[in-house]
Amino acid sequence: MLLSRRNAIKTAVAGAAGLAAMGMMPLASAAAGKKVVIVGGGIGGATAAKYLRIYDKTIEVTLIEPNVDYYTCFMSNEVIVGERKMSSIKFGYAGLKAHGVNVVHDLVTDIDAVGKAVKTKGGQSYAFDRCIVSPGVDFKYDAVPGHSEEAANTTCLHAWKAGPQTEALKKQLEDMSDGGTVVIIAPPDPFRCPPGPYERASLISAYLKKNKPNSKVLMLDPKDKFSKQGLFIDGWTRYYGYGTEGAMLKWIGGDKGGKVTKVDTATKTVTYEGGTITADVLNIIPPQKAGKIAVTAGLVDDKGWCPVNHKTFESTLKAGIHVIGDASVAAPMPKSGYAANSEAKVCAAAVFAALSGRDMAEPSWVNTCYSVIKPGDAISVANVYALKDGKIVSVEGSGGVSGKFDPEMRKREEMYAHSWFNNITSDVFN
Ligand SMILES: Cc1cc2nc3c(=O)[nH]c(=O)nc-3n(C[C@H](O)[C@H](O)[C@H](O)COP(=O)(O)OP(=O)(O)OC[C@H]3O[C@@H](n4cnc5c(N)ncnc54)[C@H](O)[C@@H]3O)c2cc1C
Repeated sequence: MLLSRRNAIKTAVAGAAGLAAMGMMPLASAAAGKKVVIVGGGIGGATAAKYLRIYDKTIEVTLIEPNVDYYTCFMSNEVIVGERKMSSIKFGYAGLKAHGVNVVHDLVTDIDAVGKAVKTKGGQSYAFDRCIVSPGVDFKYDAVPGHSEEAANTTCLHAWKAGPQTEALKKQLEDMSDGGTVVIIAPPDPFRCPPGPYERASLISAYLKKNKPNSKVLMLDPKDKFSKQGLFIDGWTRYYGYGTEGAMLKWIGGDKGGKVTKVDTATKTVTYEGGTITADVLNIIPPQKAGKIAVTAGLVDDKGWCPVNHKTFESTLKAGIHVIGDASVAAPMPKSGYAANSEAKVCAAAVFAALSGRDMAEPSWVNTCYSVIKPGDAISVANVYALKDGKIVSVEGSGGVSGKFDPEMRKREEMYAHSWFNNITSDVFN
């Protein structure tokens, strides 16, 4: 099954990347001199910028991103527990510049869909024929009663955007004494990286088992179920005594009282439906919504996410503006980096087609999410997606999750995870 899954993925990748070859190669381009402005130089935005330039070098692509360096969220859980260096998840924009992308470091403050211009905090205005927006997520801090943005940036970190918070959470774990309690509050659906909180709980447990064995991890969750649950629980039982009296790691789902009703961020005391606990390290991953600029630009629906045409990723609310990555409504695709990368290639093809007056080929997408349960034991979930009746659907029989525990296979899955990381970051930034 694994082999056929990987073959299916290869085919889909070829399908997505092959859009350029399928009637979309630049001839004497009708798109010459057309302007595309991309908001956000994360996984979605950077991929779209690069691939637009690959599809047609005559299109003027401007990428606007405030940060000079981008830190990937993927593999940041390994940084938090000291399994990987922060420098290994840091990427710059020299590669995109070499593709001819005009990289501007500034913050976009408004997108005018009618006047077709993007405005920045630095006081600049950038005209566009098409705009692609990939701002990632923002947090609903007040959805956790008692929580605040200030607490999220100082004491009760989320570390759900990689960067200073990744290092700060690492330090909190290092400073915690043996016998301490780490409480992780998981967010409700939908959120960035569905298996991410559970990988974090796993890796923190592995770190504590090795370095502070009298400590505990309690995960409180408003949901009854989560991604790759069977595989995680199997691993937690094997390594962290899950389900036993003295378990190092405990997960309490929504149906067992895991929903948090109040936090006191000064004392790190959490009240949940099933009880009260005071944490030494309190990692609150708040409920999420599309990045702020998507709200300012009128791209979000009443749930806080951006509805799009699934073939082109053009906003259904604002013509000429496309939204990709975590901010877009692309379910059944998850809010993952691999999905953002795949969506960006399809979106770049759609924008090229629109600017050059061509038809766009039928798209397909792919996603794989790896999670490390303990260094040396990783699992994955994968899927290929197609367009059916204008909607993204999961291709039947294309994906699946890792098989039953086999130590050799799990070691290999960890190698695949690290190799995927090298490949995707090279695909996005080089
Ligand atoms: C702990 C963790 C582990 C993860 N692991 C995986 C994994 O193993 N595999 C996987 O596929 N995914 C993983 N993800 C998810 C992945 O990181 C995201 O899905 C991905 O980054 C989404 O890409 P994006 O382009 O939508 O957003 P981002 O990559 O966050 O990029 C958004 C960019 O927009 C910029 N921006 C925001 N507002 C503005 C503005 N107003 N003007 C200009 N720029 C702006 C930001 O500075 C940022 O650089 C993980 C996430 C977390 C938190």
